Order: sequence, then C-alpha cells, then structure tokens
Amino acid sequence: MTYPIAILVLSALGMKTALRIKASMPEVTIYGLEARVEGADFSYTNFGETVRQLYQNGHAVIALCAAGITIRSLARVLGDKGAEPPVLAIADDGSAVVPLLGGTTGVNVLARQIAAILEVSPAITTSGELRFGTCLLNPPPGFELKNPEDAKTFIADLLGGKTVRIEGDAPWLQDANLPLDDDAELRILVTSSDVAPHKGDLVFQRKPTDTKSVSSAEATTLAGHKHGRLAVVGLGPGNPDFMIPAVKRVLNNADDVLGYETYVRMAGPFRSDQTLHMTDNREEMQRARRAFELAATGRSVVMVSSGDPGIFAMATAVVEALHESVDASWHAVELEILPGVSAALAAASRSGAPLGHDFCVLSLSDNLKPWEIIEKRISLAAEADLAMAFYNPISRHRPWQLPRAIDILRKYRNVDTPIVLGRDIGRPAETLRVITLAELTPDQVDMRTVIIVGSSLTRSFERRDGGKWVYTPRWYGTKPES
Ligand code: SAH
Repeated sequence: MTYPIAILVLSALGMKTALRIKASMPEVTIYGLEARVEGADFSYTNFGETVRQLYQNGHAVIALCAAGITIRSLARVLGDKGAEPPVLAIADDGSAVVPLLGGTTGVNVLARQIAAILEVSPAITTSGELRFGTCLLNPPPGFELKNPEDAKTFIADLLGGKTVRIEGDAPWLQDANLPLDDDAELRILVTSSDVAPHKGDLVFQRKPTDTKSVSSAEATTLAGHKHGRLAVVGLGPGNPDFMIPAVKRVLNNADDVLGYETYVRMAGPFRSDQTLHMTDNREEMQRARRAFELAATGRSVVMVSSGDPGIFAMATAVVEALHESVDASWHAVELEILPGVSAALAAASRSGAPLGHDFCVLSLSDNLKPWEIIEKRISLAAEADLAMAFYNPISRHRPWQLPRAIDILRKYRNVDTPIVLGRDIGRPAETLRVITLAELTPDQVDMRTVIIVGSSLTRSFERRDGGKWVYTPRWYGTKPES
C-alpha cells in the first residue's frame, strides 16, 4: 500500500528543509502554517487538527517539528496498528529523521529515503530493522507481502536466533544480513503464483506488470462500468471528529470533489490524483448538473456541504436536477446522500440540550423565498411555542431582516428566554454565547452564527467554567412525578 505523503511545516527554516526533500521527491505535498511559512502547496492554521486529519485520511505524515508535538497531537486518534500510515518527525533544520509510527507500513523505508536526501542517519528504533538492516516487511514496488499477519512472529523467531532460507529471487534482501541457512525451518518465498503460506513462511508475491496502478476512473472504464457515482455529503460543522466515517470513505475514494472552496478545503487534504472543483457559482442547479455530467462519464464524484447536505445545502438541488433530467446516463449514476451534523445540532450540544423538545429550523435568508413567508413562519412557530434554530441569520445584503425577526419573537416570548449564539462551531475560531432575548442585538450575529431561540420552557443555569447550560425539558406544563 502506498500513502500520499504530506509534509507539515511550522517555520521558515522547516520550509527550507521541506523544499530540499521535495526537490528529490516531487510527489510530496507541503502544508505550511499560515502567516509563518511561505511557498507551501497548502496552508493551515491549526497544526493538531491538520495532522490528525491527514493521518486519519491515510496520508504518510512528515512533521518538521519536535516529535513530542506530533505524538501529542496524534495520541487521541491512534487506533488500529495494522492500518497505520507512516509518521515521521524531522528536526526543522533537517539534522534528525525519526520514524514514529507505521513500522509495518514502511516508515523506516521512508526514513532512510529522506535521511539520504538530508545526508543524515535515520534514528531507527525497530529491533528487527536494526538487526537485519533492511525492512523485510517492505518489499520494493512490484512485490507484495502475502501474509503480513505472520510477520511479527517470523521476525521474533529470527531475532530469537532461528535461521532462514530464501527461495526465489529477492534482490532487496541481498544486503539484509539475514542468518541464512539452506536447511532452515523458516522460509522466505518469492513467487509469481498465488500460493498459500505454510507455517514458518513469509511469502512475497510478484505482481504481474500489467496491473500497474491506474486511477479509479480509469479502472472503472477498464472494467466496463460506464455509470459513475455521485455522493452528496455533509462534512459536519468543521472538526473531522464530527464527520461520519462513510463520508471519510467516499472522500477517500473520490476522483472529483466539488463545492465551495472553504468546504472543499475543509474536506481535504486530497491526493494529487484527485481533482478539486472549487465553485464560487451561486447557482445551485448549475452546480448540481455539473456534478451529474462528471459522474455520468464514470467518475466517482463527491459534492460537499458543511453540516448536513439536506439542510439549506446542495442535496435538494442535486435531487431536483435528477428529477428534471431525461438523460439516461444521469439516472444510471449511483446517487447517495450522506448526512452530517448540522450547525443547530452542533451548537445545541455545546450548550446542553436547548432542542430537547419540539423545535423547528428556519433560514432567515430571503434570497430564495419571500420575506413575508419568513415572518409568518417565525410568528406561527413562536405562537406554537417551538424552540427555533435560525440559519443564515444576517448578511451585508440583508441587514434589516434579523431586527424584524427579533421584534416578532419579543411579541411572543419573555425577555428572559435563553438564546444561544453559536459561531464557527467545530472550527478553530469557535465561540458560544448564552444570552437572553432582551440582550439579543443584530451586531452580535453574522453569517457564521446559528441562533437558537428557546421555547417558554427553556431554561439556563451557571456552569463551572463561567458559561451557562441551557436545556428544554421534555415534559410540558407540569413536571411529571419521578
Ligand atoms: N448545511 C449547513 C447549513 C448551511 S446554511 C448545516 O447543516 O449546518 C449556512 C448557515 O449555517 C450559516 O449562515 C450559519 O447560520 C449556519 N452554520 C453553518 N456552519 C456553522 C458553524 N460551524 N457554526 C455556526 N453556524 C454555522
């Protein structure tokens, strides 16, 4: 398995080292800390989040900073050892190369390669590695280890003093200093055929040369499946921890990713074989049609929205575009909508449970519907004593609508009704404020805010950190006996 390689840089000196590496390994992608590093392929603002996201999306990670920073950042996402991509720490001046994770996925090979470029010795700590000089477990391209599950025992046996014989041609093991013995019980078998490993075998299979890697789009075409896929996915509010695994999977398998630039960036990082289509186009139907056109050629297309794709986002336009189309190739596309954590739910969870009873979700934008409808809905929702979540609450072009909405609320609700203002929830700049309806003014709100308005039963109380908990009880009128 090969991993796309990401280099994370935090300083100008680190950038020099990264460029030295890239000069010999042009396939790497450099991520630079915004405002500190110039000339990177991509910039990021939060090291921890970026390194976790890259790692979780299956990138080999090279961090040009202290090993401790990288380990601490990744600690909470370290899981399945088998699938772990390589992670290396490199001193920002290039003086030390330290493989940290990914012993079975080639970290030491990568460490050697980079150490050679930087003209230093890699700090390899895997005992099997040190002893045998080369990583048995990482054959060169064209060979595949058939039984990696037996490798640990195999190496332990070798380290314990057993000898080994090699059958077949394994040029990469020539300098391995293996304890060779023609009568050995352990065997390394290199073969072109599909043999089942015996006990004590480590089997490397030579792959036929005509199956060199093809992109999934080409593979689809080769296999003759003409219809592609279109997934309309919700990224959640921002933090990848809030993204469902199925979305991560389709992003990983995507040939094309479409969406507003901010969301496409949020969904990344991506490999160089994936095509990004950053659309500024405000016309949703046009974007939806574009997605079908691409998918109909047999590609795997993912369209990203923040939060949930079905809540004031792209899923509706996509389904509508399909409904309007008579093109058979569009109807043959495998269409899938994958949900996400919507802004109201993310903000609600941060503040307690303000949406714990009946509630409704309203967009205050009158771009696509008349303002009278919005006013009417707010009035009726207030009268029905629903808690509410307001999306798209205000913008430069829509300055007077939110004040009108607040006036309506004050007609129906007490001035001490709790209001939650969630801004950039799940993103590095997240803020959450709990105020009252009396205190709510439009200047505290912008397009990156979701407003939660309590019902007549919603209440709040102090929490230890100085903020407030908010909840809407599930009983109505009088509390049932408990
Ligand atoms: N599909 C999205 C909503 C898109 S409409 C979802 O389900 O969340 C855009 C509005 O959503 C913004 O104006 C804001 O009101 C709200 N919003 C989106 N992301 C947000 C976030 N991270 N924090 C607070 N509000 C957010």
